[in-house]
Parts: sequence; structure tokens; C-alpha cells
Amino acid sequence: MNTTISRAITAAVVRGKGAPFTLEEVNIREPEGVEVLVRVVATGMCHTDLIVRDQLYPVPLPLVLGHEGAGVVEAIGPNVTRLAVGDHVVMSYGFCGGCSPCDHGHMSYCKEFFGRNFGGSDADGKCAITDRQGEAVHDHFFAQSSFATYAISTEDSAVKVSKEAPLELLGPLGCGIQTGAGAVINTLGVRPGSRFAALGAGAVGLSAVMAARVAGAAMIIAIDVVPERLALAMELGATHVINASHEDVVERVRELGGGGVDYALESTGRTEVLRQGVDVLAGRGTLGVVGAPPLGHEAAFDVNDLLLGGKSIRGIVEGDSVARDFIPQLVELHRQGRFPFDRLVKFYDFEDINQAAEDSERGLTLKPILRMAR
Ligand SMILES: [Zn+2]
Ligand SMILES: [Zn+2]
Repeated sequence: MNTTISRAITAAVVRGKGAPFTLEEVNIREPEGVEVLVRVVATGMCHTDLIVRDQLYPVPLPLVLGHEGAGVVEAIGPNVTRLAVGDHVVMSYGFCGGCSPCDHGHMSYCKEFFGRNFGGSDADGKCAITDRQGEAVHDHFFAQSSFATYAISTEDSAVKVSKEAPLELLGPLGCGIQTGAGAVINTLGVRPGSRFAALGAGAVGLSAVMAARVAGAAMIIAIDVVPERLALAMELGATHVINASHEDVVERVRELGGGGVDYALESTGRTEVLRQGVDVLAGRGTLGVVGAPPLGHEAAFDVNDLLLGGKSIRGIVEGDSVARDFIPQLVELHRQGRFPFDRLVKFYDFEDINQAAEDSERGLTLKPILRMAR
């Protein structure tokens, strides 16, 4: 194997804290071991890309972000057995595959999760990308760095999908969409006939709304401050909506749910909303927490309310998804028209990545997808 071979690609590089993405011609090495090189067809943009650009999480710069890539396997490392050149794949998060959580099928709680997804390099501290000056550019973001025309993933993290499926749409299944849907289906286990509330109706919250409908919840309440999102929530399966900008969320959910809901999901990352999430639960209800505030933030809740109500609060990463199983399930639900996540998406050309970021931050676009030119 000749590791000196590399190919010229275009990548969106972040060179300073909060700096715009700049498209650069860089080089990426060929895949080694169990790695695969993926020609990125399209990639979603997730809130996490933007908070890392702004360095709320300390990932080293310069850096290629992007962690919702979909594309075609272009080359494989010598030890790859599960994927072949030409396969269509959705790239998802990285995990070690050998620790206790991984052994038990909980890869999103892998002991090496932070290093493998936020480390900015491979396990040996090496980057696969170099810039025109020959300097290393940090990569391996969520085991992919998909804001580029090519990305290196692994056979564990790149999930093969049907060639019939619309590949350019599928990237967000690798993070944001599987987070919302997985929280409802895998973690909370929302039961038929139950009551569910989504606190936050962004891409994650609306994915949860669609999944709650798939799961057969009888009452699905979407809560947000943006009227357009609430209107879309009704089209996607919500039975009720609450505009938190002028309604009392806790009072209203208790009224609608006859005392509260069985399950709630907090996806805003705001600690005062997390408190509401606990307060809106009926007895023995569970709040799932997927929204991430800045590191170090603490939240308050009424201890006796939690205790006497038998309530649970559960943190959730990546919807507890085993991506290799869950992503194809979501693709099939989408094909059947039961999980229309395409309604959340707006496509942009890769060149317009900064516009996509701005639209996402202003709440104009729920889920941007960047399309690579061929
Ligand atoms: Zn692990
Ligand atoms: Zn994400």
C-alpha cells in the first residue's frame, strides 16, 4: 500500500474561530485499513457544525467540518470486507467497536466517542488532508469531514443504502434526523396510544414528531416560537401545537394531556426549556434530552416533583442509533411516505455554504443540504 498517494479535492476549511467557510483546493490521502474513500454527493449541515466553527467545542483548527455526508464509495482500504467501490453510503458517527458500550450495541456512548468524532484527526493524531502549502488540515470530524468533495470514513461508520433511494437527500439521516427519530423509537420507546411532546420543532424536533406518528402516539404536541415550524409540524403528524412565545407551555401541555405527557423531548439546548420538559411530564413520564447547551451549563428542576412523580430524565446521543440498522429503516419508512423528512430540507450549491449556515442560524432553513457539483 502506498500511503503517499493523494488526490486533489475541494474542501470548506474553517481557519479561525467563527470565521466563514472558505473553499480550498487541498489533498486527501487514499484510504487505509478499514477506511473507505467516499465521493460526497451531498451533505447536510447540522447545528453542531456551526458551534464547532464558533469553537464552543474545542476542536483544533484549521478544520474541515461536515458530518451528514452521503455519497459513493470511490476506493477502499485493504482490510475492508463489508463495502465495495460503487456502493451508495450515508456516513454516520465514529465509534471504536471494541469497548463495553460498543460491545453492547450502544455505539453512540462509545468510550472513545469524543476523540473519534471531535478529535480532528485519526486515532494516531494524523490528518488525512493537507493544504496547498503542505500543512495538515484537521479532519475526521464525526469520522468523515463531509464539507468536501471527498471524505474518508470507515466500513463501520459508512452505512450502505439502496441505490434506488435518493442519495442526495439521505445525508442528514447520519446525524440530525436519526437523533430525533432514534430518540423516540430507540430510547423513549414511544408506545401506541401514548402522549408525546416535542420541545423545539427544528430538524431534530420535527424528526421526532414524524417518528412519534410512526410509533402510533395518540397525542403529539409540537412546541416552538416560529409559526411556520408549528404549521409544518401539523402537516408532519402533530395533533396539537403550542407557540411558546405567547402561551404558557407547562399549563397548556398539562391541560391538553390531562395532567401531562408520557414522553417529552428537549431539542433546543436551553436549560429553561429542559425545566419545562420535566414539568410537562405526567407521572412516570420520561424526558429525553438531545439539545446541547454550551459546555458546563447546569439546569434546575423540582426534585420532589421528579421523585414523587416517578419521572425520568435521559440524555441521548445520536438517538441511540446503531446507524447500520437504523438508517436503512428510515430510508424504507421514507420510501413508504411514512417519514417525509424531505419536507425539512433545502438544497444549496456547495459554493453557497456560508449562505446555508446563515439561513440555518436565522431559522429560515430547517435542514440545509449542500450539493457537490459533478
Ligand atoms: Zn467503543
Ligand atoms: Zn449533527
